[in-house]
Amino acid sequence: MSTKLYNRLTFSFKRRGMVMYNELAEKNKKYVWHPFTQMQDYINEDPLIISHGKDRKLFDMQGNEYYDGVSSIWLNVHGHNIRELNEAIIHQLDQVAHTTLLGMANVPAILLAEKLVEISPDGLEKVFYSDSGATAVEIAIKMAFQYWRNIGRREKNLFVTMKEAYHGDTIGAVSVGAIDIYHQAYSSLLFPSLKLPYPNMYRPKYEGTAEDIKQAYLAEVENLFQEKAHEIAALIIEPIVQGASGIIVMPEGYLKALHKLCIQYDVLFIADEVATGFGRTGKMFACDLENVTPDILTCGKGLTGGYLPVAATLTTNRIYEAFLGTYEEQKTFFHGHSYTGNPLGCAVAMANLELFEKNQLLEHVDKISLFIQEKMMKFHELLHVGDIRQSGMMIGIELVSAKGTKEPYHWNDRIGVKVSKRAKELGLLTRPLGNVIVFMPPLASTESELAEMIEILHQSIKDITENKE
Ligand SMILES: *Cc1c(COP(=O)(O)O)cnc(C)c1O
Repeated sequence: MSTKLYNRLTFSFKRRGMVMYNELAEKNKKYVWHPFTQMQDYINEDPLIISHGKDRKLFDMQGNEYYDGVSSIWLNVHGHNIRELNEAIIHQLDQVAHTTLLGMANVPAILLAEKLVEISPDGLEKVFYSDSGATAVEIAIKMAFQYWRNIGRREKNLFVTMKEAYHGDTIGAVSVGAIDIYHQAYSSLLFPSLKLPYPNMYRPKYEGTAEDIKQAYLAEVENLFQEKAHEIAALIIEPIVQGASGIIVMPEGYLKALHKLCIQYDVLFIADEVATGFGRTGKMFACDLENVTPDILTCGKGLTGGYLPVAATLTTNRIYEAFLGTYEEQKTFFHGHSYTGNPLGCAVAMANLELFEKNQLLEHVDKISLFIQEKMMKFHELLHVGDIRQSGMMIGIELVSAKGTKEPYHWNDRIGVKVSKRAKELGLLTRPLGNVIVFMPPLASTESELAEMIEILHQSIKDITENKE
């Protein structure tokens, strides 16, 4: 194609794009209320409107392209517009789009349940579907609560959660959440939960060697259990990585030891793997890193490869069997959603898991997470990078105003927001958590893609934190 023709084509495409863009931006402002967004700020800026995606890139209506550096908020696995995933949906669409799971079944929901039991930690045998991470957590809470009622131990009705935990935004999930800026406004609406500190090795609550610190955190759990386990239904935790609090990675051996305490004190162990599941930490589930089988496991996000809203709550036969009884006994689990077990979602989840195997994605993650770790070494030279935390493909870069004292940036500095904005200008989408820059690219990202993304991150942090305007 001649350059002249090419220029003319792109010019007319862009001009049409612009007209559409302005119209849509206006309608976006007029009609849409965005999640976790201060709309007063947002409506004064030109919105990013995505028009399409291909593999690890997203394209906006103005013709700009970006790497999807947070996997569209921690969901995406293989990339966007992946042929096999698209085809799975189209194929299912030719059969039926949705039928209910209330008292009847559908083909993809059955096959996916079998697959989930096969790939999840040994001992998880039953799958209860829903449609988001938050609902998977609601189900876990209600299941644990009713389990103890059904076996005649109603006094076990308290929940233990970790400080700074995030389990979703519905009221039950917020009740076991503990991030003040998200949750405090609703405090009087919530059921109370007991809170323990998540082991944080960058800002430890205790002094001593890493081992001392880990043991001190565990001792706190045991003290609580000694006093209250007879009233505790379950403990819920984000295994290996506490995500929304800033990608906090727990020390090795902690999860296993915590699980052991739960068994010892007869407290149900709920692993919220909504963020960590499906290869994010390098294993299929984070619990696999320490050979832990929780009593209840929640998953969502990556389950459909980032395509459709399907989530699942997996549990053991021990829990399941406590809900069996005659109709009159009312031990039934009275819970369900209109779209529970949605066939389109389950079909694409199956295709996602098939691609995991076909592309040997877990082996790929092993390789590229090491690649990322090495490439990020040079970030330590940046003046305001306090800590780099990584588990597989979950990476958090904590920016601090002074490295020696770990002095945090003030909330009003909006340092994370500024770095992300700069990264966007340079062609990478991320969304920060306060002062922590989150890097969570799709698992299928290639080394050369990752090298470019990491270069942009490095440049953005340097531009914002070292060149004072
Ligand atoms: C994202 C997340 C949730 C909530 O999932 P949604 O699909 O947004 O409702 C729950 N738990 C954890 C650990 C998460 O990261």
